[in-house]
Amino acid sequence: MSSTKSAAVVNYAEEKYSVEIREISIPDIGDEDVLLEVENVGVCGSDLHQWTSDHSWPVNYPVVLGHEFGGKIAAIGDKVSAWKVGDRVVSETAAVIDKQNPMSKIGLYNLDPTRKGFGYGVNGAMTRFVRVPARCLHTVPENLSFEEACLTEPCCVAYNAVVGNSSIKPGDRVIVIGPGTIGILCAAVARLCGAEVVVVGLEADKGRLEIARKYGCEVIIGDAEHWARKRDGLGADLIIDAAGVSATLQIAMKLVRPNGQITKVGWGPQPCNFSLDPIIQKNVRLQGSFSHNWPIWERVIALLASGSLDVKPIIGGVWPITEWKEAFEKMHHGQVVKSVLKPV
Ligand SMILES: [Zn+2]
Repeated sequence: MSSTKSAAVVNYAEEKYSVEIREISIPDIGDEDVLLEVENVGVCGSDLHQWTSDHSWPVNYPVVLGHEFGGKIAAIGDKVSAWKVGDRVVSETAAVIDKQNPMSKIGLYNLDPTRKGFGYGVNGAMTRFVRVPARCLHTVPENLSFEEACLTEPCCVAYNAVVGNSSIKPGDRVIVIGPGTIGILCAAVARLCGAEVVVVGLEADKGRLEIARKYGCEVIIGDAEHWARKRDGLGADLIIDAAGVSATLQIAMKLVRPNGQITKVGWGPQPCNFSLDPIIQKNVRLQGSFSHNWPIWERVIALLASGSLDVKPIIGGVWPITEWKEAFEKMHHGQVVKSVLKPV
C-alpha cells in the first residue's frame, strides 16, 4: 500500500449529478472482514440511477459507488480463516445483513429488509480498497479475468430472474424487454435454458440490440406482438421485463400467453396508470426478481469459467475511475452495454 489515500467515485448528496472524485483513506476492517484491493468494478444501472437521482432506494450519503467488483485480498481480519492475502475473489453485494432475520436464516439474506448493499448502504468499490465481510467472497478461477469476473453480479441478477424466479422449458418462446446489461444477460441465460429468445428495444437501442444477437437471440425494434403470436397465435411463454421503468408491464401483459409468466427485474419509481386486469384474465403469474444469494454466485462463476456464459460481448470499454463520467455517460446514452472501471 504505497499511499494512504485513493481516488473514489463518491455520490455525496441526493441532488441530481452529485457525484465526484474524492480522495479517501484505506478503510479499517473488522474481525470478520477482508480488505479487498479492487482490480475492476462494473458500472451498474443502479449507479447511473443514483447519479441522475431517479433511484427507488434509500442512500447513505456520502457513499462510494460500485457493487460489481473483484480483486485480490490485501489483508484479513483476525477471525477470517477461509481466505488468505493474495486470493482472487469477487464479492456479493449484501454488505450488511441481520443474520437473525428469518429470511437470512433460510439463506435468502438478499431479501432481508434491513440488508444494506455496497454502493448505497455502505462504501462500494469504485476505489482502490474496499472493506468486505468474508462471508460475501467467492473464489475467481485463474482462467477468468477480473474484467469478466467483476460482472458476476449482473449475471447473478439475470440467473435468478430466469432460472430461480421463472420456469423455462426447452423450446419456450421468451421475450426480453430492454437491451441493457440485465436484459441481454437474461436473454443469454434463457438461451442456455433452451428457449427461443427475442430482445425488444427502441430505435435508439440499435447498437445494444446488435450485441444481443451475439447470444443467439433475435432482436426487434418496437412492437414484438407478431413475434409473440407467431407459433400459435397466443403469445410468448415468458416475458422478462428488464426495462428500468414500471410502465413496460403494460407491454408485457399484452405479449404474454394465457397461463404464461411475466418476470419483472427492471424497476423504476414512476407509478403506472393502467389496469392489471390482463393478469387475471390471462391467468398470468407476475413475479418480481431481486438480487441473488450464495448458490447462485457459485453456479454463475462456474458458467463464466467454463465459457458457457461469456460476458466479453457486453463490455464496452475499461476506464480509469478518474474518468468515471465518460464511462457513466456512454452507458447512460446506450452507446455501450456495460462500462468497466479500473482503480488508479
Ligand atoms: Zn449491479
